[in-house]
Amino acid sequence: MAQIRARGIIVKQSDYGEGHRMLSIFTEEYGIVKAVSYGVKKSKSKTGAASQFLCYADFDLYQGVNRDVMNVNSVETIDAFYPLSEDIKKLSLCVYLADITYSLLGMNNPDERILRLFLNSVYALAYRNTLLQKVKTVYELKLMCAGGYMPTVNECVSCGKKDVYAFDLSKGGAVCRECGGKYAVPLNKTLIRALEYIISCDDKKMLAFNAGEDLLNSLASLTERYVLTQLDRQFSSLDYYKTMLEM
Ligand SMILES: [Zn+2]
Repeated sequence: MAQIRARGIIVKQSDYGEGHRMLSIFTEEYGIVKAVSYGVKKSKSKTGAASQFLCYADFDLYQGVNRDVMNVNSVETIDAFYPLSEDIKKLSLCVYLADITYSLLGMNNPDERILRLFLNSVYALAYRNTLLQKVKTVYELKLMCAGGYMPTVNECVSCGKKDVYAFDLSKGGAVCRECGGKYAVPLNKTLIRALEYIISCDDKKMLAFNAGEDLLNSLASLTERYVLTQLDRQFSSLDYYKTMLEM
């Protein structure tokens, strides 16, 4: 791919050399690709303003000397989700959502469904008054489903018994009392129904359900621990997001 045009959203940015920026762009066709935007800090730079975290755009990219990193030639912005740049809580949540996406997907691994899920979440945070915790828990669960970690919730994941009492984070699903291990989080009927809804609903309707604060809290705690257990790592962006929430 010497020269490509790709539609995607910037999921990571960092300073690169003097006045340049290294971007990770989650594109439809090529997955997450790395690209350098040169001279972004010059006031006349056309690509500068568009080379920001969460800018959704058509990117003209060409391959440089380093085959793993593209160069940004031009950017045509579709949506920069500006309301997010003024809200540090929402912004830090997006950094975390981007981090778990990258951790699950890696580089150059196209996944249109996950890209849609990510865009839906960013959109809901920018333009709808959706609760942050709701967007977070739903994205965590949908991402895991789309990435091959769809949990079983209506029967024991180990033996198939219908009488489940807890969700086992490491086994990846509901468990009965005989099969529950040390990573088991208690389940109740409401929580099971909410999990089933999120897992099986159309992705476009993933945020279209009502849940009270207690249920959202239980969901949020479960999906977060599920992500961390299954991906087997911690995220500093998650700690940062939680710090922001407390401010
Ligand atoms: Zn069992």
